[in-house]
Amino acid sequence: MHPQIDEIVRQLIARKKFVFLCTNALLVSKHIDKFKPSPYFAWVVHIDGLRERHDESVCKDGVFDEAVEAIRELKRRGFTVNTNTTVFNTDTPQTVIDVLSYLNDDLGIDQMQISPAYAYEKAPDQDHFLGVTETRELFKKAFAGGNRKRWRLNHSPLFLDFLEGKTDFGCTAWGIPSYSLLGWQKPCYLMSDGYVKTYRELIETTDWDSYGRGKDPRCANCMAHCGYEPSAVLATMGSLRQSIRAIGG
Ligand code: SF4
Repeated sequence: MHPQIDEIVRQLIARKKFVFLCTNALLVSKHIDKFKPSPYFAWVVHIDGLRERHDESVCKDGVFDEAVEAIRELKRRGFTVNTNTTVFNTDTPQTVIDVLSYLNDDLGIDQMQISPAYAYEKAPDQDHFLGVTETRELFKKAFAGGNRKRWRLNHSPLFLDFLEGKTDFGCTAWGIPSYSLLGWQKPCYLMSDGYVKTYRELIETTDWDSYGRGKDPRCANCMAHCGYEPSAVLATMGSLRQSIRAIGG
């Protein structure tokens, strides 16, 4: 929707920055001619489930079909297309398997991201967010039978271990910070405890030790990738065995 999004993308690519442009894909057909494929550029299309589940999740019929159509056109034009799927407690291991297998096998998505939904304080429907135990059980079942290895998931092995309860981490919210017109958001994009002008100010003026599960009640059920994928990456880099595992995919 940003009127200069194509220019923002072009300028970042010119500086050799990797751009993952997140979209629900509804405006892709209108703006597709403004973009060119690049090794530094990937579309990330939000898909929460197969047709019925996705349309229900975004509260609008027809969105799933439009997103699939856009993905096919982007792939036809040679773009890298990734997806992001949010998992709610209305999901079952089978609905997760169905959507990820469809994206992986039928649409040929390059890489897929998954995240348990975060229970926003202001979200009207607080009943549909997963608790930590539910999240672990759901992913453990969904990943079984070789699915985890077969799907092209864009996550470190340790983050996937974390999702299915094989390991646990503290939150590293500064690792995937959020910047918008308002500034750098404290402490992460899921909570807004204020905004500052620079990343240095964000790092230096946020009390990072006061966030995460067991420290802030708002973090109690959070297993979102913005907080815990950086923790998994730091743990990977601190271990030769985990580094070799991550390279092996
Ligand atoms: S646990 Fe971390 S990522 Fe999750 S809401 Fe709290 S600060 Fe944000």
